[in-house]
Amino acid sequence: MTFTGKQLIGYAATATGHTTFASPAATDVKFIDATPADVHAAAALAAKAFEHYRQLNGATRATFLERIADELALVRASLVETAQLETGLPAARLDGEITRTVNQLKLFASLVREGSWVRAMIDPAQPNRQPLPKADIRQLQVPLGVVGVFGASNFPFAFSVAGGDTASALASGCTVVYKAHPGHPATSEMTGLAVIRAARETGMPEGVFALLQGAGHESGVSLVTHPLVSAIGFTGSLKGGRALFNAASQREEPIPVYAEMGSVNPVIILPGILAEKGTDLAKTLAASNTLGTGQFCTNPGVFLAQDSNDTTSFLQTYAATIAATPADGMLTDAISASYATGVKALENKKDVQHLATGVATEKKRSGIPNTFKTTVSAFLKDVSLQEEVFGPSSIHIVAESKEELLNAIRQLHGQLTLSVWGTAEDFVNFQDIFRVLETKGGRLICNGVPTGVEVTHAMMHGGPYPATSNSKYTSVGTNAIYRFTRPLCYQNFPKHLLPQALHDENPLNLWRMVNGNYEQGPLRA
Ligand code: NAP
Repeated sequence: MTFTGKQLIGYAATATGHTTFASPAATDVKFIDATPADVHAAAALAAKAFEHYRQLNGATRATFLERIADELALVRASLVETAQLETGLPAARLDGEITRTVNQLKLFASLVREGSWVRAMIDPAQPNRQPLPKADIRQLQVPLGVVGVFGASNFPFAFSVAGGDTASALASGCTVVYKAHPGHPATSEMTGLAVIRAARETGMPEGVFALLQGAGHESGVSLVTHPLVSAIGFTGSLKGGRALFNAASQREEPIPVYAEMGSVNPVIILPGILAEKGTDLAKTLAASNTLGTGQFCTNPGVFLAQDSNDTTSFLQTYAATIAATPADGMLTDAISASYATGVKALENKKDVQHLATGVATEKKRSGIPNTFKTTVSAFLKDVSLQEEVFGPSSIHIVAESKEELLNAIRQLHGQLTLSVWGTAEDFVNFQDIFRVLETKGGRLICNGVPTGVEVTHAMMHGGPYPATSNSKYTSVGTNAIYRFTRPLCYQNFPKHLLPQALHDENPLNLWRMVNGNYEQGPLRA
């Protein structure tokens, strides 16, 4: 396979820069870092494309999204092969991720083809209202503009070039400038070319999507601070997300940064279920923690339980399972180094007991599983114990009492997910826990593992800081589209100047809120 190693701007592969970096797959092509001039060229063309693209109807945008899905499916085998070389992830996992990405694009296509997502609202005029007449007021969601997107290394498809951020931004009517992750630049180029082919073949304006390469932070910061960029979608580390959020806030015109960052995804294990099937549960949870070498943002890293003989047996089985789990490769040198640092820091804490280490292997950048144990008082004293150690590491917090368990839960930081394992009786005896959990995370799970995020309408993949920079939004599922829109209100507008979604006749057959009630027909006189 041959790669250009350049920026994909409009229909051309171009580069003005001279510094390069290599793909982890060691292709013979060097990838060229995007310069501020490249960022400007991409943003300017995307801003021009936006003027046209935002006005296209939902059916046309849906056709574009479906074409991207088709183009990805056509090069599926090459994508898997390239991504495997760059990330070391297993082929079956990558193939499944492409299916998820394709389905995600199709889901957004169906959303915008149906159209009611624009949340059209009509409050008809009341010219005879006393003491003053009321104006005709109508509202709908409109796209923000050019969206800069950053993907994570651990999902080279679903949270990458044509992943959820790009799909939701394009669905909303925004144009996209994508900053590729240096962990999979060749996969990114191949995916970017598929998006651009789809754009060309469905007649989208040139510049609707651009892909920039870069290792090091300059190109990313240039993108976030570019005056023509209106919003950012980011998936990655807390450090990276926070840096970009800060850069965006310091712009003359601040813009929203929707950063989905790490999480420790606490799991609370209640006494009844520990007595009933603690051993099986220990194996299930250890498997969830070490799945994919622990490199999931939904990886369960903190476990909380009340002290008992059952808890002791649970911990023994959990530790034995970890001790028997072989190390596997991690995604990048940076992730592997950061994992080693995180584990070392836990080993050096005097109030933390190292329960088990997994089996070392010869795997490149191998991440050896580890598990630790501590008390609630140590956990509450040391906030660093709540920090994500991205990889197959976990810490068990053992409480002396139910009250202490609740105290620990009250101190948890914001999370993407929180899970509770219990029997029906536990869920009655510990129901106060759930009221606390509702304030802590985006997705609460009963008797299930947090790894695995369905792409659906009701999914919430987000949560209070530090899980994300804005807890009101999800990055997975159809509601992700609202990150890239804003409400626009039309007051007393002549009908011919209103968008079709707000016409009296309801020509798009949308569900609309009229005078506070949802209805689908034309406006009644
Ligand atoms: P990362 O190091 O933050 O990188 C993500 C992207 O941001 C890359 O393109 C990176 O490019 C750029 N970047 C990072 N720091 C930057 C800075 N200071 N200035 C400008 N650009 C910057 O994350 P990662 O290694 O891919 O992923 C691992 C992390 O992602 C984990 O913490 C995991 O929990 C999280 N994650 C979260 C989710 C979620 O949905 N919440 C999903 C998957 C992963 P450069 O390196 O070229 O700057």
